[in-house]
Amino acid sequence: MGEAIRIEILREAAERFVAAEPGRLGRDGWWRKPLVVSAPIDQRFDQLPDIAYHEHFSPRELLLTARSVVVFFLPFKRELVRANRKGNRPCRDWGLAYVQTNDLIGRLAGALGDLLGEHGFQSGLTPATHNFNEVALMARWSHKHLGYLAGLGRFGAHRLLITPAGCAGRLGSLVTEAELGDHPVIETEEACLLKAGKECGECIEACPVQALEEGDFDRRRCWDRLKDNRRSLSDFSDLPETTHVCGKCAALMPCSFKNPVAELVKCTPSRDVGCP
Ligand code: SF4
Ligand code: SF4
Repeated sequence: MGEAIRIEILREAAERFVAAEPGRLGRDGWWRKPLVVSAPIDQRFDQLPDIAYHEHFSPRELLLTARSVVVFFLPFKRELVRANRKGNRPCRDWGLAYVQTNDLIGRLAGALGDLLGEHGFQSGLTPATHNFNEVALMARWSHKHLGYLAGLGRFGAHRLLITPAGCAGRLGSLVTEAELGDHPVIETEEACLLKAGKECGECIEACPVQALEEGDFDRRRCWDRLKDNRRSLSDFSDLPETTHVCGKCAALMPCSFKNPVAELVKCTPSRDVGCP
């Protein structure tokens, strides 16, 4: 039997780990403060084959003795997101950040697993990306859907998860034997302005290949664009073959750095002036 560990300990460890990354890289990091949530493995995760992909793994297929799911979000810094706004193709830094963030996600998940191990709990991990079916273009382990079920964020019209720190960033997850409890962070039922009945659709407008529509997403069209970016951009030629990025639907959107619906809720009628 392991000794008690709390979500706060994992959150502090994740913050320290991400804060130390610039020192390791010898350059500024791409990330703001990480968000970490946990949820007990209960019936909500039975929905995964329905809401994500019919071949989606159940958490206990990663680790039979798992009791909790942990999902984290590494939000990108504003400068990086701003730099990727220009033009219809991703900037080199966006590609580089993707590669370095994938590496960080793997090591951070490993470090959290090690910390849990020190407390006597085993963990089960999966890679940050490319763990999907190339024909269906669906992940067998979707950090995004796990984050949704664990209360890290809500889906936007762009199909990204909008967290309290926005949608511009990357997700990772693990399962563990530790009983960490339910620790969501999302404050509202919806976090997308359009889904909350407000005007927006900026992400739909921003997509260079019209892969997004309200209520629909052409996954194949998006994926083809990601691959084309890797193939055709000369300043991506030294990046790994798996650098499949675009990010235009997350670049300086109302939901890039925050949950815009939470801001609306905070705006009471008497303080309405200046609300988004
Ligand atoms: S840009 Fe607007 S419509 Fe698109 S996900 Fe964000 S809030 Fe929703
Ligand atoms: S990642 Fe790019 S291609 Fe895919 S939906 Fe977003 S803007 Fe469109």
